[in-house]
Amino acid sequence: KKEVYESSKPHVNIATLGHVDHGKTTLTSAITHVQSKKNKAKSRKYEEIDAAPEERARGITIKTAHVEYETDTRHYALIDCPGHADYIKNLITGAAQANGGIVVVDASQGGQEQTKEHLLLANQVGVKDVVVFANKIDVVADKEMLDLVKEEVEGLLEKYGFNKNSPIIFGSAKKALEGDAEQEKKIEELIDAVDKHIPTPPSDESKPFLMYIEDNMSITGRGTVATGKVERGTLKPGEEVEIVGINAEKFKTKATSAEMFHKELKEAKPNFNIGVLLQGTTREQAPRGAALAKPGSINAHKKFEAQVYILTKDEGGRHTPFEADYSPQFYFYTSDISGTIKLPEDKKVVKPGDDLSLQVHLIHPVAIEVNSAFSIREGGRTIGKGVVTKIIE
Ligand code: GDP
Ligand code: MG
Repeated sequence: KKEVYESSKPHVNIATLGHVDHGKTTLTSAITHVQSKKNKAKSRKYEEIDAAPEERARGITIKTAHVEYETDTRHYALIDCPGHADYIKNLITGAAQANGGIVVVDASQGGQEQTKEHLLLANQVGVKDVVVFANKIDVVADKEMLDLVKEEVEGLLEKYGFNKNSPIIFGSAKKALEGDAEQEKKIEELIDAVDKHIPTPPSDESKPFLMYIEDNMSITGRGTVATGKVERGTLKPGEEVEIVGINAEKFKTKATSAEMFHKELKEAKPNFNIGVLLQGTTREQAPRGAALAKPGSINAHKKFEAQVYILTKDEGGRHTPFEADYSPQFYFYTSDISGTIKLPEDKKVVKPGDDLSLQVHLIHPVAIEVNSAFSIREGGRTIGKGVVTKIIE
């Protein structure tokens, strides 16, 4: 179980990103080392972070370490994974819930294959802001090399959809961890840049209301009660809502009242399990799987692009590969919808353990947007996890 922290400061999740051996774990340790001197973190040893426990909660094995620190203004969880595959799974399943990233680049090598893969994937799953730490400057003899690295990194940032003027700090995580005062200053600079450059994510409460209908029950003469968990936003009795997805047409109505545990609510908030009385609505107009949302805030779609991870046999997934036009079920929040997988031209078969970008064509529309998470299922068991990266239709 993750520790529960007590802090009144806004919380931000930051993922380390970058090629294997470029120094992500060393940097994570160095950040806690530097902040521990200010009583703003518990110092974490490299070995402690790298021995991240395997999480199986989502059916997928992911190793991640969540390391805490604070600054004057915010509270952070730094997310560090030991292996490349763990980063991929973490980003695709949304396990990390990263709000921003620290891209670690070995300054003696520049960006490598996994640096690019992480940048591409992070951007696709909604990590829009990053700060770069160009590491290992202690082994760079030629200082002109650093200018080249800066230029190269800026190019990569731009190519993968990030601000090319994101802060880049040059330093040595290892030297900082060893107590080198000059390098500790560089880590402080990095911590500062993260504070300033990566925005605090909006609270779920401040977003437009969204709930996926789990069940419905008609009340003669009054309407239909739709139940479900509030994903985001708030709902007050009397407010207008729109029912989106599953049915071809949207349906606008009024939430006469909302209740939880048979008690009337003045305001429903994120994570509340509620029942909403929908005025003049039939059960058919409020089907399971449809979204109950603030009017105009979300639309239903049948075709989209996604990044997916296909579970291995050991993770309870398929034992065999599948080919194009494979038709499993897609589970979005509260509904299983049949659909067909369209593979990219150069991909003929997909094997358990693969991660890839593909298209999905559903038979019913569902209320989704870029970043919506889903599972791929077959006969009731999960064989893959995905995240919507682009709406097609
Ligand atoms: P990760 O795979 O990105 O997490 O990289 P690690 O943090 O495990 O670092 C890989 C190797 O690089 C380890 O042997 C570190 O000691 C070494 N390393 C990390 N930072 C520095 C640095 O600033 N200078 C030097 N010379 N080596 C470093
Ligand atoms: Mg590591």
